[in-house]
Amino acid sequence: MERKGKEIVPTSKGIQLVNLVPFDLKSPELTAKWEKQMQLISKGKTTANQFVEDIKKYAAKLVSTVIASNETYRHDNITREKCPECGKYLLDVNGKKGKMLVCPDRECGYRKGLSRVSNARCPDCHKKMELKGDGESSIFTCICGHREKLSEFKKRKGDKVDKKEVSKFLNQQDSGGNINSALADALAKWKK
Ligand SMILES: [Zn+2]
Ligand SMILES: [Zn+2]
Repeated sequence: MERKGKEIVPTSKGIQLVNLVPFDLKSPELTAKWEKQMQLISKGKTTANQFVEDIKKYAAKLVSTVIASNETYRHDNITREKCPECGKYLLDVNGKKGKMLVCPDRECGYRKGLSRVSNARCPDCHKKMELKGDGESSIFTCICGHREKLSEFKKRKGDKVDKKEVSKFLNQQDSGGNINSALADALAKWKK
């Protein structure tokens, strides 16, 4: 399942899974049958162990049916980028913290973050920016089009805005002074 705005929608993987699963497992009769078994257990007419044994056999049968079936699972989020660990094509996945590239081989387990929403605000429009890439080569991007490297961002944040500059700017604004030139001055000092 995946969240799209306020709705929760099944992913292509989910829809494909339902098609792969044998009809039996989707039927309400099966659940009813299991309920009945449990009632029999509670009445002492059959044992819990017997029930577990039956379920095990049933699960094994289901798995072999799926393996033998002609239906195949197809990843539709496959990318052209190969896993640096095992060489399989990576999958594009929406994680909690943004887009990720994930190796389809669970034993390999390779994954890398593509982009995530950061707490850093865009200097142009003040919206939260997305952080893409890894480590020092990461880059902030904003929906307004602003882009800056992580290193540039750190440098910018490193220079704290002078409080005096800000109050000077505010005073000039109050007295109807030339806001644009005060702002330009402040910006020029900030950028240095
Ligand atoms: Zn891999
Ligand atoms: Zn922006």
